Amino acid sequence: MTGQERSEEKSECVSLSPMMEADPALPESERVCVFGTGDLGHSLGLRLLQAGYGVVFGSRRPHSSSRLPHGAQVLGHAAAAQSAHLIFIAVQREHYDFLVPLANQLKGKVLVDLSNNLRKNQYPEANAEYLQSLVPGAEVVKGFNTLSAWSLQNGPSDANRQVYICGESAEAKEAVIAVATKLGLSALDRGSISVARELEDFPLQLFPQWRLPLRIAIGLSAAFFFYLLIRYVIYAYVTQGKDISFRIMVSLANQVCPIVSLIMLSLCYLPGVLASFLQLYRGTKYRRFPNWLDRWMLCRKQLGLLSLGFAFLHVLYTLIIPIRYSVMFWVTEHTVSLIRENRTTMFDTTTAWHDDSYLSLGILGFGLYVLLGITSLPSVINSLSWREFSFVQSKLGHLTLLLCTAHTYLYGWNRFLSSSTYKWYTPPGYMLCLVLPSVVLLLKLLLITPCVDRTITRIRQGWERGADQRNPKDSQPLIP
Ligand code: NAP
Repeated sequence: MTGQERSEEKSECVSLSPMMEADPALPESERVCVFGTGDLGHSLGLRLLQAGYGVVFGSRRPHSSSRLPHGAQVLGHAAAAQSAHLIFIAVQREHYDFLVPLANQLKGKVLVDLSNNLRKNQYPEANAEYLQSLVPGAEVVKGFNTLSAWSLQNGPSDANRQVYICGESAEAKEAVIAVATKLGLSALDRGSISVARELEDFPLQLFPQWRLPLRIAIGLSAAFFFYLLIRYVIYAYVTQGKDISFRIMVSLANQVCPIVSLIMLSLCYLPGVLASFLQLYRGTKYRRFPNWLDRWMLCRKQLGLLSLGFAFLHVLYTLIIPIRYSVMFWVTEHTVSLIRENRTTMFDTTTAWHDDSYLSLGILGFGLYVLLGITSLPSVINSLSWREFSFVQSKLGHLTLLLCTAHTYLYGWNRFLSSSTYKWYTPPGYMLCLVLPSVVLLLKLLLITPCVDRTITRIRQGWERGADQRNPKDSQPLIP
């Protein structure tokens, strides 16, 4: 550095709190530079200071940067670059050309590219690759872009403790991982700089694993809503001239919710059953499942949580039945007519048994449903062993499906055989929704029969059908 440069640096150096000024005696590994004093730069600087690093900001306007964390230094870019080996670039990609004249100062430095884009494929190459092309003498590492300024300032929670990094230089990545670890983050090395575009797409994703389950939920809800609307409201209007459209708000909703819930719960267990049959058919577990099955299996948690949501709505709708105006009206009307006509009705024990059993199975099913939902929380999963988790999610899950299916069968009770149930020759919604869970339960029953279960267990332990013939040595007993 020339004497003139040194005096320039002195004049452009601004300490925000002389008491806590970044200690020049700190070794270079303990000093970090951040280019950009905006939202992310500010939050990152604060966290770095809290972790014990000396922080030097590089800014276009070092004298007027007023909202920086106490203890940080702010310099012009050229001077700041010389103060640390590791530089976080908290500036939008559109402005990266300011780095070109700094190529000399940035030679050999580790540049961490934090940038994100507004949409996928916004630029022909990844921001990190672009940065590397602008400053070829530096080692560019992509990373930390999945964190937000807000989460950095408030301390990362479990969900955003994970950061991903990628880059060509192993040494540079190690330096970045060391900083991440000191900040309480967990850094995962995703490989070379060619992965940068994928990392840049991460923050643009909007609930990627929820998309398919949400589409299924919306599609099923809409289809069953219109089906039930035609069967109840329109049917009553056309055949009896009665307007029962007020039933749309609660009665219809309370039929759609359990129907969608039960179908989605079956959809949650169907792929596992199909996968078992596929393994049985193929006689091996070493062949990949088709993509559609893989995708389906990956969204089982979301399918299950959505079905729990619908079950919860069903419970709420059911609880409000006694306070509905129409229900109170009909109960009062019925009681008054009994008194007027001096009539009484007999207590029917069969109906009481039926009602209580149907309600009880629903309550037990919902209780297990909630348990399944709780065991899908990351903090609960972490406290369970694999065996405990699979016991709850598989054994108790199928039991939940069985209870909820039985609840629906009991709801139908003797109406399955009554011709008046089939308005316009169509079955009621609850009958339609029983098809899928019944199929899943039957298939599961087949899978747990001892001979099938034994074969599936052997396949899952690595046995392959036909392997004995292919390699007869394998089938020889070890002890003759
Ligand atoms: P910001 O608040 O707009 O700050 C950007 C900073 O860049 C400015 O404060 C400015 O600092 C500097 N800058 C602006 N124009 C410049 C130019 N022409 N030349 C040189 N420097 C210039 O943006 P941000 O939200 O902090 O985001 C910064 C980068 O981090 C973006 O690429 C963004 O995608 C990424 N990111 C942000 C977040 C977040 O939560 N905000 C999360 C992940 C990633 P000086 O005035 O000090 O020079």
